[in-house]
Amino acid sequence: MVNATEFRSAVKGWLEENFPLALKGQTAMLLELASVQNNLEGDILLWRQNLAQAGYGAPTWPKAYGGAGLTHPQAKILAEEMKRVGAFNLIPALAGMGVTMVGPTVLEYGTDDQKARHLPGIASGTIRWCLGLSEPSAGSDLASLTTKAVADGDNWLLNGQKTWTSGADISQWCGALVRTDSSAKKRDGISFLMLPMDQAEIKTRPIKLIAGASPFCETFFDDAKASKDDLLGKPNEGWSVIKRLLQHERQSQTSASRTGSAREAFQDTAKRYVGVDAQGRLDDADLRIRLANHLMDATAHSLTVRRIREEARGKVEVSAAASILKNTATQVAQIKSELTLELMGYQGLGWQGDSFNEEELDNVRSWLSGKAMSIYGGSYEVQKNIISKNILGLPENTQKG
Ligand SMILES: Cc1cc2nc3c(=O)[nH]c(=O)nc-3n(C[C@H](O)[C@H](O)[C@H](O)COP(=O)(O)OP(=O)(O)OC[C@H]3O[C@@H](n4cnc5c(N)ncnc54)[C@H](O)[C@@H]3O)c2cc1C
Repeated sequence: MVNATEFRSAVKGWLEENFPLALKGQTAMLLELASVQNNLEGDILLWRQNLAQAGYGAPTWPKAYGGAGLTHPQAKILAEEMKRVGAFNLIPALAGMGVTMVGPTVLEYGTDDQKARHLPGIASGTIRWCLGLSEPSAGSDLASLTTKAVADGDNWLLNGQKTWTSGADISQWCGALVRTDSSAKKRDGISFLMLPMDQAEIKTRPIKLIAGASPFCETFFDDAKASKDDLLGKPNEGWSVIKRLLQHERQSQTSASRTGSAREAFQDTAKRYVGVDAQGRLDDADLRIRLANHLMDATAHSLTVRRIREEARGKVEVSAAASILKNTATQVAQIKSELTLELMGYQGLGWQGDSFNEEELDNVRSWLSGKAMSIYGGSYEVQKNIISKNILGLPENTQKG
């Protein structure tokens, strides 16, 4: 077993040999890649291939399934070294919901055959996954879902509608939560099926968001087929599978850094826009207090995330506590966006045109799209219900089922 110093030095050497320097610092490209997975070329294609070959796309997954078998402390060293040289792991962005949610759940609940068939495509960033959970009348109360799957020979036949399905129009596979026993109590008759999106019986209709992009779709199943081999977990026990998957989702949503420059401290951005008083302080006493409160909250959040990781000593486990961090991350990120908009004044409201710089145009989009943070992955209020029931042990809320 190599020690941390040896491992760091091996990673440095690997990056020197494998990371195309022309890509240095181009993390913004990750967002654009979200839709061009099959059109990668040149350095970016080479970098994806190199990452996949080393198993560094999903570094803690077993080598047999496309990972590198790293411990969590080793994965942290890998991330630190990538950051140091301006490299980035683009595979999670290419795999959609694959690396952060579907993969870890397949690792836990999947058969050996499912792991062998599905995980390598995710870990190499060649197969994108979407998640068909929410329906028009089943969001927070997900167990009310009505999309049905009926056994038909070697397949399940799916009928119904999903909504807000991120990346459904560009994904190759979908993890869908469906009703397989309508006579059971609502959380008992549900199963988790995996199915290919490339079938005429599946239609997707993109939904345009206020921030301009169309990151998600309405998804219609009309006798869509899922192989019986692609039921994850036991039939009618999909509720346990999905609860675990959603914990993985929240765990992946604990970062509060959405807006702002990585190179400039937020207080310096504020001073640049608002100006300073004779003592060099931000020249707006009220804003100064709110900014200081925000900076304290942001620091407390990131130190808490760090403490939890260090206390776990590398044995990172997801739990209901992810709901706390998801909510604090949301709060910190949304307040930062609001403050940025306020300190930029009219400049922070530009949508297009030469009178706004790139930072200002980015901020208004980020401010708008950031509103979704308190909705996706389970809303802010629903996380509070989970915290009160599962962590604080308070009585059941109004959600029945
Ligand atoms: C950007 C984005 C991406 C998404 N991607 C996906 C995806 O890929 N796949 C997918 O399946 N879904 C996805 N979703 C859907 C998301 O999971 C749901 O929007 C979310 O669970 C809330 O459900 P809803 O929209 O039906 O709102 P509702 O459940 O109707 O909630 C409306 C309001 O009522 C509140 N509320 C509801 N129930 C309670 C309660 N019991 N106690 C207190 N307050 C309550 C909520 O907090 C919310 O404010 C995405 C959503 C967004 C915004």
